[in-house]
Amino acid sequence: MEPAAPSLLHLFSEVIQSVNLGNSLEEMLDLIYSRLREYVPYDRISVALTDEKKQRLTSEAVRAEGTILMNKGYGAPIAGSSLEPLLREGRTRILDDLQEYLAKKPTSESTRLIVKEGMRSSLTLPLLVQGQPIGVMFFSSRQPRTYQPKHEEFLRTIAGHVAIAVEKSRLMDALRHKSEYIETILQSSADGIIALDNDGRIQTWNEGARRIYGYTAEEAIGRPFEILVPAELQAAGELQKITEQVDRDGFIKDYETVRLTKDGRRVLVNVTATAMRNSQGRPLGRSAVHRNVTHLKKLQEDLARSQSLAAVGELSATIAHEIKNPLAGISGAIQVLQDAIPATDRRRFVVTEILEQIRRLDNTVHDLLTFARPMTPVMQTVAIGESLRRAWSLLCSQPGAKSVRFRIEGPEIQLQMDPHLMEQIWINLFQNAIEAMPQGGDLSVSVADGDPAKIAVRDGGTGIDPANLPKLFRPFFSTKTRGTGLGLAISKKIIEAHGGAIGVESARPRGTCVLVEIPR
Ligand code: ADP
Ligand code: MG
Repeated sequence: MEPAAPSLLHLFSEVIQSVNLGNSLEEMLDLIYSRLREYVPYDRISVALTDEKKQRLTSEAVRAEGTILMNKGYGAPIAGSSLEPLLREGRTRILDDLQEYLAKKPTSESTRLIVKEGMRSSLTLPLLVQGQPIGVMFFSSRQPRTYQPKHEEFLRTIAGHVAIAVEKSRLMDALRHKSEYIETILQSSADGIIALDNDGRIQTWNEGARRIYGYTAEEAIGRPFEILVPAELQAAGELQKITEQVDRDGFIKDYETVRLTKDGRRVLVNVTATAMRNSQGRPLGRSAVHRNVTHLKKLQEDLARSQSLAAVGELSATIAHEIKNPLAGISGAIQVLQDAIPATDRRRFVVTEILEQIRRLDNTVHDLLTFARPMTPVMQTVAIGESLRRAWSLLCSQPGAKSVRFRIEGPEIQLQMDPHLMEQIWINLFQNAIEAMPQGGDLSVSVADGDPAKIAVRDGGTGIDPANLPKLFRPFFSTKTRGTGLGLAISKKIIEAHGGAIGVESARPRGTCVLVEIPR
């Protein structure tokens, strides 16, 4: 070999650099193809690699002037081929005359193709990494008898680098593949996956975390985990306690707590957190899986409530029945007494008061029964305006309703409903509105056509304390001294029996709006 010229050293360092940069095999081959001609003659260079099981050899990159018949992707089995002993023993091979070689081995498809490409002689170098063959590199020339032992020796050095480069790029590919795979799992998980560094700053934030908490990865990464922790839990040192436990035991499992979303909502989450350590056992922070269990918790509570409600309902239905008949008897008897007392007698007032109290009791019992009995609506076509007006006409004569102005807006529409139950809803809602406006005011109903039809009942009354909003539809919830707390519970039951929905909006002190939706 000629003394190493500076440019050859330079080329070596470029090849090594290329390896270190993790460049692709194609790039490396470009480098070699363009720069090596000074030292070795060739018209064609190619690299073929073995598969994982070392059964096939596949061409991975080819550089040549002129037609290439044996291109990238060309593959052949190793077993039985002339390359097998080269790979096994790590030997190089020089073929001085490819045409002659083909004449001796007419079945060699690869020789036939390369001869057809115009090549006349070749040098084959096995690529070895730590003594293990990973492929071969071919140098070919259009001239016969091109290669000599000095080329062979020189190219062995290059081959070592190429082999390492190939192995490295294969490992990088596998790594990239693996990390993409893990990234996909991470991102597609429905659970929030959040990792923190040792300072408690967010390092990893997947799509599931975005769905639960509303922050995008860009918004969350780098910020302290405290952004998710409600103030009172921060004050109680919740995070320190979790950190202590994770440090001590290495993990914390199925820990239920409250966290804050970006828009300030509270969500109930189940958290399993694990300490992360590097291979030397140094702490790297912790990673955690967050699961939103708000819905689940609410379902559990609803279930518990509906079970206790069913029990209460049964009980109250029984009691109501027991009360209803004697009540009617008492009422009848007292009416007889009332008739016997002269109109001027002061005792007459006492009896009237008793009758009034009996009427209230009877109403309560009636409400209780309506609420507790199973409801089977009898559907008819109902004109909504008519139903609303009839309900109002039953209430407008009571003293509290005198200074309430009632009005209906919107189109006259027809709904499929039980007319009696429908009226019951309006009576309950109007009664509440009247009671909320002791000084009088506006009670307006707006009807909007569509599916569902929407009926909004608005009053200008006291409004509702926001703290009470979640409780309004619970049976027996009342803020009134004489309320049964059944009006809204019954209305909800009726509307749900019709497949509809009811909700309340209130802005103290501007009054209340109850929205009823009924499917068409
Ligand atoms: P009750 O009227 O017997 O108290 P309801 O179920 O009809 O029972 O109503 C429950 C509670 O909801 C009421 O006690 C009241 O606090 C509140 N509420 C309902 N409707 C209104 C309204 N229009 N304005 C203000 N508060 C209301
Ligand atoms: Mg009421």
